[in-house]
Amino acid sequence: MRIDLHTHSSASDGTDAPADLVRNAVAAGLDVVALTDHDTVSGYAEAAAAVRGLAPGGLTLVTGAELSCRIDGISMHMLAYLFDPAEPELDRERELVRDDRVPRARGMVAKLQELGVPVTWEQVARIAGDGSVGRPHIATAMVEAGVVASVSDAFTEEWLANDGRAYVDKHELDPFDAVRLVKAAGGVSVFAHPGAHKRGETVPELVIAELAAAGLDGIEVDHVDHDDATRARLRAFAAEHDLLATGSSDYHGDRKTVRLGECVTDPEVYREIARRATGAVPISAV
Ligand code: AMP
Ligand code: ZN
Ligand code: FE
Ligand code: FE
Repeated sequence: MRIDLHTHSSASDGTDAPADLVRNAVAAGLDVVALTDHDTVSGYAEAAAAVRGLAPGGLTLVTGAELSCRIDGISMHMLAYLFDPAEPELDRERELVRDDRVPRARGMVAKLQELGVPVTWEQVARIAGDGSVGRPHIATAMVEAGVVASVSDAFTEEWLANDGRAYVDKHELDPFDAVRLVKAAGGVSVFAHPGAHKRGETVPELVIAELAAAGLDGIEVDHVDHDDATRARLRAFAAEHDLLATGSSDYHGDRKTVRLGECVTDPEVYREIARRATGAVPISAV
């Protein structure tokens, strides 16, 4: 079984439409894929329809989201799986983050313009389309403008990194609230790429231990932004704190170089996630 539990579609900042993501997951030889767009569930219907159209025994879809969180000024991401998308409190929190993404992106465009970068909000809005707008869309506009060579090249101190000159922060959830709300919505919470220090300051292990005590289900161990030493340390941490250890690609289509299934989750861990969840069930062709 090949299981990838962290992917983005055009419902947020990936480039594959949800149905194309499903097709690409099949082509990549995956058995299970989770759709985890940033702060939105708007890709579910299209992805689910695509999965239901496959031959029986095809791909299984795990519905999810990646929630934008912040603690002590440190931004972090919380993966949430198989929660009830209609549960009002968590729905409201996702909406608050999404709503703030628009003025925030406009603010970053304004800062870039002040720095002499010829990008416009209209251009960013076109690139984002119906997707929940984020820095990768702005980075794509910068690539189009010839300012940087790639999306990842825009994530520097000079531009869009957390300490970058054009960075603007957004409303984000307290991760303790996220863990509580995900659980209340019947979902399972997994701290995304906790050791991705290239993206900015990371959350101290002491705080992750507190999150574990507060009901966090797991941490993402195998991720392209974690080197071997980081993975070993996180795997030991997960064992020590009775956390599930997942592995996933964090696929963003053509917006990043990582491929579907580049990191995968152990089938036993996946089964435990599905077992714990009460908010939704994985979707497959029948
Ligand atoms: P936002 O949600 O708008 O703050 O943007 C976060 C997204 O930017 C994440 O999904 C990452 O994929 C991407 N990102 C963050 N840091 C980096 C980085 N150093 N290189 C490439 N992409 C990054
Ligand atoms: Zn993203
Ligand atoms: Fe993330
Ligand atoms: Fe992600």
